[in-house]
Amino acid sequence: MAHERTSDSIWLEQADTPDSSPPPSSTTVAVIGAGIAGVSTALHLASAGVDVTVLEAGDIAGRASGRNDGQLLLGLGEHYNRIHSQFGAERAPLLWDFLQRNHDAMLAELRSANIDCDLRQAGGLRLAETEHEQHELRQAAALLRAEDRDHELLEADDVAAQLPLARGFHGGLRLADEAIVQPASMVRGLALLAQSRGATIATSCEVRAVQGEAGAFSIALADGRRVEAQVVVHCSAALGRDLDRTGLLGRTVFAYRGQIVATDDLPAELASQFPDCAMSSNFCYEYFRMHRRRFVLGGMRWSVPGEEVHVVDDGSHHPQISENLIAYARRHFPALADVPFPHVWTGVMAGSPDGLPLCGALPGQTGEFALLAFNGYGLSFAFLAGKCLSEMIIDGESAHEALPMFTPRRFVGQRT
Ligand SMILES: Cc1cc2nc3c(=O)[nH]c(=O)nc-3n(C[C@H](O)[C@H](O)[C@H](O)COP(=O)(O)OP(=O)(O)OC[C@H]3O[C@@H](n4cnc5c(N)ncnc54)[C@H](O)[C@@H]3O)c2cc1C
Repeated sequence: MAHERTSDSIWLEQADTPDSSPPPSSTTVAVIGAGIAGVSTALHLASAGVDVTVLEAGDIAGRASGRNDGQLLLGLGEHYNRIHSQFGAERAPLLWDFLQRNHDAMLAELRSANIDCDLRQAGGLRLAETEHEQHELRQAAALLRAEDRDHELLEADDVAAQLPLARGFHGGLRLADEAIVQPASMVRGLALLAQSRGATIATSCEVRAVQGEAGAFSIALADGRRVEAQVVVHCSAALGRDLDRTGLLGRTVFAYRGQIVATDDLPAELASQFPDCAMSSNFCYEYFRMHRRRFVLGGMRWSVPGEEVHVVDDGSHHPQISENLIAYARRHFPALADVPFPHVWTGVMAGSPDGLPLCGALPGQTGEFALLAFNGYGLSFAFLAGKCLSEMIIDGESAHEALPMFTPRRFVGQRT
């Protein structure tokens, strides 16, 4: 099926764009990319008094960070039993703690800086698409209970009570500490904050090449200008993998495209029957939420050949995915049967072989760092990871116990 042109996300249409500055001829730290990863890194470096410049090819939050579903999730998309199986009983809790601390730190900053981004802290609902998924949610709940983590296991009747419009879910799990935001407003608000603390953010500045070495990098921009920097940080997701001269990012990071559809404002009475929380089913492959009176739904990339892996064009969408998303909405929410979904957009995510991000020094290249490949969960990681990375750049180390799981070095010698 042909890919059709699409528009910006509803978030980017609504969010004000902070002013851009021209790139300086030299800076201490150059960050490539102004998504949530680059903005967070710059915010924390600037807060510590470091001279930092973000070089962004397009607009702040113009790519995945302004095109996602705005869900601040705990435990990645996976149910916790699967996180335990994949990472083991020692590392799974470290991962969860990292995500929880990311939320706490990010929400504290949003509140103290008064960033208006439609933050709703009504928790999250993982819904079971099948009886098998409900069985796994029970296993996840048992592990969460054993680790004394806030959760509530829901049977089908409980879901019917909490989500009266829903049909066909076999149960669910409520996580009280999940939240939703308007993601473009959030990242642009954090960018404004970074600027107010001294960071320079230069948009429409595509980086073509990084040359030189630690202490004397020379960054070539597409328009012929150059920026000299002592340190370079790659926050360009899967879109700038070739800029890393070690080749590690090119070998390990891959792109895949997600797609979202949205309604216009629903009638007030209908809208009020949906909770204001993060929701998902089918192991988080489908995810949905309200934004004010709009129903916003993403996922279904598994339903088309190739699953949109290696697709990097976020100016088009896959019509079959939209059809499948709308069929999902109408199957689970018959009250939406006659509601049109006039908005559709896509965004490009970055993945890694083990499903965890890369945060730290690039091996074999002193002075070059990376923060990227959040595997579809950047809002859950990137704020705290940006803080940790800024500590690594300034102090040579950062303390969180989960950080060894994110070191780029783990992929050295691996063929992918
Ligand atoms: C449809 C969809 C739904 C999602 N839902 C959620 C969700 O609900 N919750 C969640 O936590 N995550 C979600 N995600 C994932 C989340 O959006 C990403 O993990 C996160 O935004 C990644 O941030 P980033 O800064 O790494 O990348 P990006 O936001 O993509 O930023 C990278 C930036 O680098 C710039 N760049 C690239 N190359 C260059 C270059 N050569 N020179 C200069 N700049 C360059 C790009 O222009 C871009 O602005 C979703 C993603 C999609 C697409």
